[in-house]
Amino acid sequence: MSRRPILAGNWKLNLTVRESLELASAVRDKCARHRDVDVVVAPTHLALHAVAQRLADSPVRVAAQNCHWADQGAFTGEISPAHLADAGVAWCIIGHSERRQFFGETDDGVAKKARALHDRGVLPIICVGESLDQRDAGQTLSWVTGQVKAALAELTADEAAVSVVAYEPIWAIGTGRTASPEQAQEVHAAIRATLAELYGRAIADRIRIQYGGSVKPSNVKTLMAQPDIDGALVGGASLTADSFAGIVAHRAED
Ligand code: PEP
Repeated sequence: MSRRPILAGNWKLNLTVRESLELASAVRDKCARHRDVDVVVAPTHLALHAVAQRLADSPVRVAAQNCHWADQGAFTGEISPAHLADAGVAWCIIGHSERRQFFGETDDGVAKKARALHDRGVLPIICVGESLDQRDAGQTLSWVTGQVKAALAELTADEAAVSVVAYEPIWAIGTGRTASPEQAQEVHAAIRATLAELYGRAIADRIRIQYGGSVKPSNVKTLMAQPDIDGALVGGASLTADSFAGIVAHRAED
């Protein structure tokens, strides 16, 4: 089953609006010739609208890094799926381990966000992943597949099919330590088996599963060569156009 690769840059709490526009333009220009992959950039909320406008005529899509599940209401400081759709945002990262760790995001909240995003036509990139302690205790597969089941609990099979799951071992995020291709593949295969239990094999085979955790131009190719790795969610290496374009171009020298 061939799935279209999806490479997403998570800019986290970096870059002003002006800097975000500069990077967005550079990514657009450097990635324009790679038509066989989906390219996504995730600026801060403040830069979303401007970046979406800048990229409107390009194949590069824009993601938010988080959202609330409500469309509107007394939720000071939040932004909603309706706002994202209105601003031209196509994707939203939810359940990132930094949100779970520092802002108390729960599986239940992630499920509500996934539901609300689909209601507004914004597609979720649903992050899951284990800590080093959980890996050392042999709990990786049960933990991660439990997160997947919880996050997708409110989605139909058709909605799941167009969502993206991002497997990001917490110990590999921002640490320079990447899961080996075999370690990543083992978890991706377990995630796909869980998706097949939930929705059947045909739907599971359509769902794209990204790997995230210190992905760089130098390691993307071996990761992407694994049968169940369909893309990358990239933090640090997405902050310069050259390194992100190097990741997007992983198929180019084949
Ligand atoms: C991330 O935050 O999603 C991530 C994978 O970061 P990094 O690539 O810097 O490890």
